[in-house]
Amino acid sequence: MTGIESLPVRDELRGKTPYGAPQLDVPVRLNTNENPYPLPEELVRRIAERVTEAARTLNRYPDRDALALREALAGYLTRTTGFSVSPAQVWAANGSNEVIQQLLQTFGGPGRTAIGFEPSYSMHGLISRGTGTGWLSGPRREDFTVDTRAAAEAIAEHRPEVVFVCSPNNPTGTAVDRETVVALYEAAQAARPSMVVVDEAYGEFSHRPSLLPLIEGRPNLVVTRTMSKAFGAAGLRLGYLAADPAVVDAVQLVRLPYHLSAVTQATALAALEHTGTLLGYVERLKGERDRLVRELRAIGCEVTESDANFVQFGRFEDAHATWQALLEHGVLVRDNGVPGRLRVTAGTPEENDAFLDAVRAVTKENP
Ligand code: PMP
Repeated sequence: MTGIESLPVRDELRGKTPYGAPQLDVPVRLNTNENPYPLPEELVRRIAERVTEAARTLNRYPDRDALALREALAGYLTRTTGFSVSPAQVWAANGSNEVIQQLLQTFGGPGRTAIGFEPSYSMHGLISRGTGTGWLSGPRREDFTVDTRAAAEAIAEHRPEVVFVCSPNNPTGTAVDRETVVALYEAAQAARPSMVVVDEAYGEFSHRPSLLPLIEGRPNLVVTRTMSKAFGAAGLRLGYLAADPAVVDAVQLVRLPYHLSAVTQATALAALEHTGTLLGYVERLKGERDRLVRELRAIGCEVTESDANFVQFGRFEDAHATWQALLEHGVLVRDNGVPGRLRVTAGTPEENDAFLDAVRAVTKENP
């Protein structure tokens, strides 16, 4: 048996650990921002039908350009944002992580850099590293909002090729306003022609409208989305982007041929037929998210305003000890390494009640 240290792995990967939240078997799992509602039975049946149909031609490679799926995704974006998107502006892959990887393979890479405003989604930095792109950690204010001036200054100073703006931001829940995105886009274009990637994985949960219409007249702006959260389909692995058609053409240079299986395309198409029911669950979750904010504040926690399906709360002298104590009460939340804070995903009303009871018990034990 040899260890990983004895293999000739790339220098930048040496001593690193893989990304991943603990997958523990506890009664209440609120740690990975999943949707707690299983897909409705009617949709499960529709998936079975569509997959059966796809199975009949599994001897052939799938539609490499996923045209039917991109058309359905464009329709969904147009309907839900009121901003007209064409299939040529949409591209899909196995989760938005793969979309982000394709963007970094296309626009980042060795000798280039990407910036994000941290704390933010740690995979932006990790996928940068995996694609040989240098990573720059940009600033955020104490209240976790993006300071437009400081962020624009960081862009002007470092001149990155890729700028990540996560809105609503994971793990803080903070939304970014239109004006900030526009200002950062302008700063990025003034520094050098660079790509601005707005990660809207939690877009459907926001109190505010999508930032998607900003792609109009901004050929270097990309919005990424996912079916993992709002669609309750994390197991499906389907993420997508909307941008100028030239961006879609550019990512073709790095995508693997036939990367999206026929089974994935069939399943995603079935889910897109049921957006009405799925968005109904989103409305419920938004209500539960707002309740978590209110009740955590009533308990005495400091809570960050949230536009996502999760809530950042604190402050704890030792956040990891609180994480452990909640686990002992059967509730799994996430310690993202933000000092003094933890993150809880909005679950079903019953799961949220169990979580709130656990917080009450734990804060009473350690006032
Ligand atoms: N972006 C953000 C901000 C996320 O939090 C996540 C999931 N944790 C993703 C992208 C990736 O999601 P997926 O690959 O499942 O689409």
